[in-house]
Amino acid sequence: MGDLLIRGRVLSFLREPDGVEDHASYRYEEDGAVLVREGRIAAVGSHSAVSARTGPDVAVADHRPHLVLPGFIDAHIHMPQMQVIASYGAELLDWLNDYTFPEETRFSDAQHGRRIARLFLDEVLRHGTTTVAAYCSVHKASAEAFFEESHARNMLNIAGKVMMDRNAPEALTDTPQTGYDDTKALIAAWHGKGRQLYAITPRFAITSSPEQMEMAGALAAEHPDCHVQTHLSENHAEIRWTQELYPQARDYTDVYARYGLIGARSLFGHCIHLSEREADAMAEAGGVAVFCPTSNLFLGSGLFDYQRYRRRDKRLRVATATDVGGGTNYSMLRTMDEAYKVIALQGEKLNPLQSFWQLTRGNAEALSISDRAGTLEPGTDADIVVLDASATPAMALRRERVETLAQELFLLQTLGDDRAVKAVYVAGRAAKR
Ligand SMILES: [Zn+2]
Repeated sequence: MGDLLIRGRVLSFLREPDGVEDHASYRYEEDGAVLVREGRIAAVGSHSAVSARTGPDVAVADHRPHLVLPGFIDAHIHMPQMQVIASYGAELLDWLNDYTFPEETRFSDAQHGRRIARLFLDEVLRHGTTTVAAYCSVHKASAEAFFEESHARNMLNIAGKVMMDRNAPEALTDTPQTGYDDTKALIAAWHGKGRQLYAITPRFAITSSPEQMEMAGALAAEHPDCHVQTHLSENHAEIRWTQELYPQARDYTDVYARYGLIGARSLFGHCIHLSEREADAMAEAGGVAVFCPTSNLFLGSGLFDYQRYRRRDKRLRVATATDVGGGTNYSMLRTMDEAYKVIALQGEKLNPLQSFWQLTRGNAEALSISDRAGTLEPGTDADIVVLDASATPAMALRRERVETLAQELFLLQTLGDDRAVKAVYVAGRAAKR
């Protein structure tokens, strides 16, 4: 495969922006280019400088006047919930029982899992997302289907088979031993194969017995380079029930801490109602709080306090995510639009530079993959999204009044969705269908 030169208005973040005027936090080239060689970024910068470094056999993808950014990263999403999204009328626990659990039982059929895995990765790529941290169903075959499809596309994805051994339908439970054995086998088969990464995935404390939590902790200790993903402090009824099930724990966060499940690769979906003690404990252990705004609004779970979590003395690591099917859209642009509103309801504003840093480098850092994705740094994998801020008539009209890059980003976030995604590259290969 020869070189690929991707030309456009190239934008990537060097560090977290400190306000909307922090122009040193990003690299922007009006006539820029990214040089891709063997799936990796070989050079980035002005078109004139980068084009001087191409090999003799170069293909050019000219995306002017569109923006070229690192692909989006979604830090929490459920593959088996494509046919759960848009289910009416319930809060978390009823939503799980009425809609989600029945749907997830269908993944005992491996053929169904393969079909959904293919459609799932098609859908996230169409929306400009090149990496997800995904939950599969309890069935080992669902994770195999996910990884086979992800590996065939050469995507950098994190996923795991859900572990759950109680408070769920019989057809949807494993046991402490089978959950451990299946996870162990999946790690051996898939973790580090190509670009695949495994996440040890106890669904949440309610659906795992203390014996299973111990097994999950053992897996995390045996595989410190694997991620851990679960849910934490989403909804008041969930928090109450968890405390009844784990009376020895000081609080919900302490349940996970007691089983050794909080570390730098641990991702906790929601974290909406953490006490100061819990936020301190989470920050000290380096766990990541994953903000899922469309889901939190849809299920009426509450408002994630993004600004306070980041500003507190013991700062929390934060990522953002769709949480489909509790979430209502696959688009990380729609997700950050809703994040903006959740933060606005708490009297603050999320600036557009911060937003686009979070979608790319910020989420890559939270997932501990920024050495591979999220930055456009030479040597990293060429996962790239191309965005058009005039993608619809309404966007084109609004854009007539746009004067700055930050305004253009805010327009993309506020009005944009999959229609604004003009192209996607996965390890340098065109991927949008
Ligand atoms: Zn979730």
